[in-house]
Amino acid sequence: MLNKPIIKIKNLNYYYGDKSLRKQILFDINLEINAREVTLLTGPSGSGKTTLLTLIGGLRTVQEGSLKFIDNEIYKASSDKLVEIRRQIGYIFQAHNLLEFLTARQNVQMSLELQSIPEAEAISRAEAMLNSVMLGNRINHYPSQLSGGQKQRVAIARALVGHPKLILADEPTAALDGKTGRDIIELMQKLSKEQGSAILMVTHDNRILDVADRTIHMEDGCLKSITEKELGVRS
Ligand code: ADP
Ligand code: MG
Repeated sequence: MLNKPIIKIKNLNYYYGDKSLRKQILFDINLEINAREVTLLTGPSGSGKTTLLTLIGGLRTVQEGSLKFIDNEIYKASSDKLVEIRRQIGYIFQAHNLLEFLTARQNVQMSLELQSIPEAEAISRAEAMLNSVMLGNRINHYPSQLSGGQKQRVAIARALVGHPKLILADEPTAALDGKTGRDIIELMQKLSKEQGSAILMVTHDNRILDVADRTIHMEDGCLKSITEKELGVRS
């Protein structure tokens, strides 16, 4: 019951380009992501990881196959449905993508405004979330006044403040040094466990593989192996 899949993908293919330039990028992807688990997605550059993540996040149109978020089919979903699904997902990218003209609090608060939460409540939730990423003393700072690690923590607060069921993170530590990256991952893991969110994270960073409940490997658009930590098997 607790570990019902949150994402179910069946026979998913994806292509970029049209006509003679059409090129298949993802090949027959079959995958389930469980609620409350940390799943890492590794694989060489160009293997299709970001493409898969953006499909799961409803940021790109599913062309072939089935992709379900909880019990909602994303293939051929209406744009209203996609908006509703996106609201239940937190996104963290390699570059933090904070808005430079908004303070840390305003950046975090923005993701709640999309959910039509009253302003006073949005402000107090944004501040509480910044406290839990240890930025309570940076609430009114602008991104330019923050370090790389602090900006990425604001991005985490922004992704988590709406209590998403799923967090999609694409190389969130790529721009950070090893220790800062490790701290950021541990923080994400702790907060997502507290909130009961699942995490699907693309990473090249071998030093953080141990935070995963599962590790999935992608090569040339195919999922090659799935390691189940608890069983220690490959399939
Ligand atoms: P990864 O995240 O694993 O590095 P991507 O999903 O970004 O891989 O890319 C997979 C493949 O798709 C690469 O060959 C890349 O060049 C190609 N690709 C990515 N985005 C586009 C696009 N917008 N148009 C055409 N090809 C793309
Ligand atoms: Mg990528």
